[in-house]
Amino acid sequence: MAESKENKDNNQTSETEKDETESSGLDWLAGYMKQSLGLTENKAVKVLDEVSFEGIAKYIKEKKCKNIITMAGAGISTSAGIPDFRSKGTGLYDNLEKYNLPCPEAIFTIDYFKENPEPFFVLAKELFPGKFKPTPCHYFIRLLHDKGLLLRHYSQNIDTLERVAGLPGEKLVEAHGTFHSSHCLICDKQYTLEWIKEKIFKDTIPKCDETECDGVVKPDIVFFGEALPKRFAECYAEDFGKCDMLIVMGTSLKVQPFASLTSRVPVECPRLYINLEKTDDSSGNFLAALMFGHNFDFDSEDCYRDVFKQSTCDDGCLELADKIGWKKELDKLIKEEYSKIDKENKTADKSPAKSPSTASGSKTKSKQS
Ligand SMILES: [Zn+2]
Repeated sequence: MAESKENKDNNQTSETEKDETESSGLDWLAGYMKQSLGLTENKAVKVLDEVSFEGIAKYIKEKKCKNIITMAGAGISTSAGIPDFRSKGTGLYDNLEKYNLPCPEAIFTIDYFKENPEPFFVLAKELFPGKFKPTPCHYFIRLLHDKGLLLRHYSQNIDTLERVAGLPGEKLVEAHGTFHSSHCLICDKQYTLEWIKEKIFKDTIPKCDETECDGVVKPDIVFFGEALPKRFAECYAEDFGKCDMLIVMGTSLKVQPFASLTSRVPVECPRLYINLEKTDDSSGNFLAALMFGHNFDFDSEDCYRDVFKQSTCDDGCLELADKIGWKKELDKLIKEEYSKIDKENKTADKSPAKSPSTASGSKTKSKQS
């Protein structure tokens, strides 16, 4: 397997990127150690009247924050019907048996893909964006943007549902890449979602249409063995110091460097974590931050800004919207957007996109609260 010149060039670029990321990582570590050891002038200030879910809602309602950052993982898309395809035994891997993958992860490994792209595209057809509708949680984030309160949304998801929900690209950091665009592995020519979709649905391997190129075209999702998008490092360096409310949803915060972002907000910034379960450790110590990438403190006596809401992302967001006084607006937005999507699908003569499984259920549920 001779490496092409282009590949070598790519490797060089990613090494430079790596250096940059590593040095900014060290800066962060130094800053974080200072903060943990109490060496910074920034003493923790309690800004919430009440360190609770209600306190967070009140803080937003009283317009005390205007640079909200949301961070999300697979949990915000599960009710849309998107399976967690990186884990084994989801059934999605079953129709890949004939390819004899060395392990399920191979399908997202760049070296394997370069040798044998076919299994990835079989799976991609199954998971292709457009088959799914955004969830109430996605529309809550959209509403934050409509209200001018969203600084940025950081997503680990590659399903493009944030874009479908109407969040503009500039408000979005797709930390693990996206299906939204694709590039030729050899000449780097960019292709659109529509272009690659046509190839994938015809069961053909997308190949570059430049004369004498014939490279495989790969969606811009981050494979194992690839660097994170440049935009990720550029945005977080700029954003997190400005953040005045952090909302983390549907992620177990186990994947780095994404998880460590929670520690980069100012010391007084309130942090809300909506998830079905707490992360492995939330004792707020430095070692935990190093090991698990966050330093949430939900339960200690010193807890002053961190709030854990145990629920699905949809229920959590609907309840939060209700407490802020945005419930009607959110319901209206969801209804309008869903009928828009249904109409578009009808004109495109496609089968209607699946509605999130809990959407209607959550609506009735949150009425009781
Ligand atoms: Zn090409």
